[in-house]
Amino acid sequence: MLEGLMMDYQLTLDKIIEHAARLHPNKKVITKLPDGSFHELTYGEMAKRIRRLSSALESVLGVKPGDRVGTFAWNNYQHLELYFAIPGAAAVCHTLNIRLNGEQLSYIIDHAEDKVVFVDGTLLPLYEQLAAGSTSVQAHVLFNVDRDVQTSLDNVYFYEDLIEQGDENYQWACTDERMASAMCYTSGTTGNPKGALYSHRSTFLHTFGVMQANAMGLGETDTILAVVPQFHAMSWGLPYAGVYSGANLLMPGQFLQAEPLAEMTEKYRVTVAAGVPTIWNGLYHELKNNPRDISTIRALVVGGSAMPRALTRAYETELNVDVLHAWGMTEMSPIGTVSALMSHHADLSTEEKWDVKATQGYPVSGVDMRICDEEGNELPWDGEQMGELQVRGFWVSKQYYKLDKSADHFTADGWFRTGDVATMSPDGYMRITDRTKDLVKSGGEWISSVDLENALIGHEDVMEAAVFAVPDARWAERPWAAITPKDGASVDMDALNQYLTAEGFAKFWLPDNYVSVDELPKTSTGKLDKKVLRKMHADGAW
Ligand code: AMP
Repeated sequence: MLEGLMMDYQLTLDKIIEHAARLHPNKKVITKLPDGSFHELTYGEMAKRIRRLSSALESVLGVKPGDRVGTFAWNNYQHLELYFAIPGAAAVCHTLNIRLNGEQLSYIIDHAEDKVVFVDGTLLPLYEQLAAGSTSVQAHVLFNVDRDVQTSLDNVYFYEDLIEQGDENYQWACTDERMASAMCYTSGTTGNPKGALYSHRSTFLHTFGVMQANAMGLGETDTILAVVPQFHAMSWGLPYAGVYSGANLLMPGQFLQAEPLAEMTEKYRVTVAAGVPTIWNGLYHELKNNPRDISTIRALVVGGSAMPRALTRAYETELNVDVLHAWGMTEMSPIGTVSALMSHHADLSTEEKWDVKATQGYPVSGVDMRICDEEGNELPWDGEQMGELQVRGFWVSKQYYKLDKSADHFTADGWFRTGDVATMSPDGYMRITDRTKDLVKSGGEWISSVDLENALIGHEDVMEAAVFAVPDARWAERPWAAITPKDGASVDMDALNQYLTAEGFAKFWLPDNYVSVDELPKTSTGKLDKKVLRKMHADGAW
């Protein structure tokens, strides 16, 4: 082999903050503080604070390369600093999901063996309560808190003291791009949570991936509102991609309600905002009642669950905001696809364009995809055949932390099994039809619960819907639907099935029963938890 003669310049995250400090020293992270005021910190100042913090991690807290350091926090400037300072000291930034229950949180902290945890003061009582069962943590660092705070935690430090004590000329310890930089546990609905362990290299390449024009196309002129939590899939990579682009980052703290989001979007003329459909649904209704101009948004990025087509249409026609539907997974850092239009869509009608945007979209450069049948045979990209979605690429996990590489999750030829079931169109647009565990297989035929749900929420009486499999002697499984009706409405099976028939669903797809529930069971990241519905059915709830 003739080796290329190019530098082996390591893809380490210190390069991101140093670049921003040099090129964009006056661009900033703006945080809505717990008292409701806005705090601004320039990247120039932030870089100095980060170096000091990295240094104090080593000198004050004794953090060594490879140690796991937890964060339990909202999106704010301190959490952003930790995203750089912990990996900068060659340690691993382990973002803890504040919505887990105590058992799961303690499990995750101890499984990761977190040595230090940084706790946002606004969450201190919650953390004290939830993490009480964990045993690995040797020190806690508090921020957004008064010094005279009462706490049951041992060995407590204050964040600003660490920064004070640190060295501004710290030499970064992250010298090898293969070093682990961060970790995040998945909120799997079955079994224990599993840890995805990112490297500097994978995160760096993911950052480029997010920034590219065919993905979010971030630039210095952007102001990015990161609603998606930093404790969930690294806030979709926006903290790194935003800083590297020299964009301003707007961090909402605990203010994730529609009204403050609308206010800050207008005030700071946000151009890119990212969050789950529930958030944007709430914002849309808020703006109907209290109009504000949010048309500065050029990309409303939506992922985590499918974006309802009707909501995309409402944003685009009523609020003049372009929607960018995206799909990803914690195991994928997380970006996999985005659903932007291509030049060959130019002549489509507006309705047809929304059909395209309702799909999860094409793989961004850096991610390969395929769909496979149950025997592992690759299926064609014909837009019809549904198969298990498998991925590989620069920022995809190859194994879970401290777990063997099981065939349930990784194929022998090097692909990650996403657990999503999808079709691929001939031009490369992926459409999720189910989770493998949620599939309904009736008489040997797959029924897409997601397609049924999407149609059902279009009915005037239905607020939310979950379609789940129920064992059946004749067909093996049949679909049932759990519905939360809109205020004052009731669930009428005949009417709903007539509606689905009119929407074009085949007879064998129609749910055999509809049950009305006050609330649908959800996971800690807000996804439907159909395992609970199946169990309720098995336990004779209906
Ligand atoms: P998480 O790792 O918690 O982010 O969950 C990843 C899973 O969320 C994926 O495997 C999908 O099942 C689901 N998901 C993410 N984005 C979308 C989307 N745009 N549409 C439908 N499901 C999605």
